[in-house]
Amino acid sequence: MLEDIVALSSGVRGSVETLGLAPPTSVVIESDGTIEGVDTLRSVEEGASWLGLDVFNQSFDEALRHPKLMHRQYGKAALAEQCQSCPLVDVCGGGYLPHRFSTGSGYRNPSVYCADLEYLIRHVQGSLRQHGWDDTYASTASPP
Ligand code: SF4
Repeated sequence: MLEDIVALSSGVRGSVETLGLAPPTSVVIESDGTIEGVDTLRSVEEGASWLGLDVFNQSFDEALRHPKLMHRQYGKAALAEQCQSCPLVDVCGGGYLPHRFSTGSGYRNPSVYCADLEYLIRHVQGSLRQHGWDDTYASTASPP
């Protein structure tokens, strides 16, 4: 996670789906061939990871275009207004999906760890600055 904060702060694509705005390209293949969304979505609500697809009848491209996963292709536009205007959004990405779900507005909420994410990202960026980091990609403004 720390390496990804460094990478994303430097304008490099990260490697984990918990940070950044790049669309994730991961699905889970169950042992019976069922294609599902990532396992962690199961903590959100019953059936959250269920797509109704399987490897015998659908392609992975079809899975990534599934309505339940499509919102993850829209980057910043799919986030809560608070996140869209946050100066750390390119690094934070609005938080991990299970951490920002609500029954009222789905995934359009700031992460429940918003304050912690802000602290961690700013701490890492502050440390990088002390070592001569070029902060072209980082903002110094405060989140809303
Ligand atoms: S730090 Fe908070 S407001 Fe900013 S993008 Fe992350 S969750 Fe959203």
